Amino acid sequence: MVERTSLSIRDLAVQFESEQGVVRALDGVSFDLQAGRTLGIVGESGCGKSVTARSILRLVDRPGRITGGRILLDPGTPAQADLVALNPDSRQMRAVRGGRIGLIFQEPMTALSVHYTVGNQIMEAVLQHSGASPQEARARAIELLREVGIPRPELRLDSYPFELSGGLRQRVGIAMALAGDPDIVIADEPTTALDVTTQAQILALLRGLQERKRIALMLITHDMGVIAEMADDVAVMYLGRIVGFAPVMELFKAPRHPYTRALLRAVPSILAAPRQRLSTIGGAVPHPGLRPTGCAFHPRCTEALEGRCAREAPPPIPPGQAGASCFLAEAVA
Ligand code: SF4
Repeated sequence: MVERTSLSIRDLAVQFESEQGVVRALDGVSFDLQAGRTLGIVGESGCGKSVTARSILRLVDRPGRITGGRILLDPGTPAQADLVALNPDSRQMRAVRGGRIGLIFQEPMTALSVHYTVGNQIMEAVLQHSGASPQEARARAIELLREVGIPRPELRLDSYPFELSGGLRQRVGIAMALAGDPDIVIADEPTTALDVTTQAQILALLRGLQERKRIALMLITHDMGVIAEMADDVAVMYLGRIVGFAPVMELFKAPRHPYTRALLRAVPSILAAPRQRLSTIGGAVPHPGLRPTGCAFHPRCTEALEGRCAREAPPPIPPGQAGASCFLAEAVA
């Protein structure tokens, strides 16, 4: 089934200007989010995953700013809107943020206040994004808590966030993200702070909600296990660019970019011999202000082509197509 494209990002560029110079945090990022599908965004810390999320919501803090590209909501329809053209503080953008697009944080306390009960906070979010009466907002808050699997939601409504376990808090965080009835949800490392059992429960909850509501889910993670469990398609980011894009099965079976292969080699395996050393990716992600020449991955790439990769940048992947931004991938295409 061909799904509706909910959001199209094209050539998105974000820069941070400081006394030390200009840092290109995002450099020509393009992808689509489709209703009922999950796009996993993977990469090490500092690759631009969270900046991408914050750009979509127009939450990039100064001195950062979007310097190019488009973020199209409902692309190709009469309702198409370019979020880059909107004032981040405008009423229209506030209606998108938390309304059309929900955000789930790694640490739910980022979205919750310790001073108010979870019921108050969810009701506030419902009131902000609908014409509901206070009674209707309360009923909706109870319904949302039930939807995210919180037992006895009528009683939990009066709890403060600090009275809840990490798992329950993240469920409340998900309820908050759903309060505006979004059709797009961005989840930024939603299970990283949780133990493995709770992580599995939260992932199952997210998957169930996403399938039931046909949400376009953008799932940011550094965890390939989470990607395998959740994603339909995967974008691999490195230094502010998408260097690999593929349906999830294809990515795991035949990764086409050396960085993707390195990320997969670093995943622990239960089939490994006892005490076998975990594979790591040599070196570290350079500071975005010190982007290497040519292919930005070349100083860490074990397959770099002498005389070419340090001088020449491989072409980007056309949006919507599986591929890798690598000269070696060109050779097998
Ligand atoms: Fe490695 Fe060269 Fe491919 Fe970059 S273009 S990933 S350096 S082989």
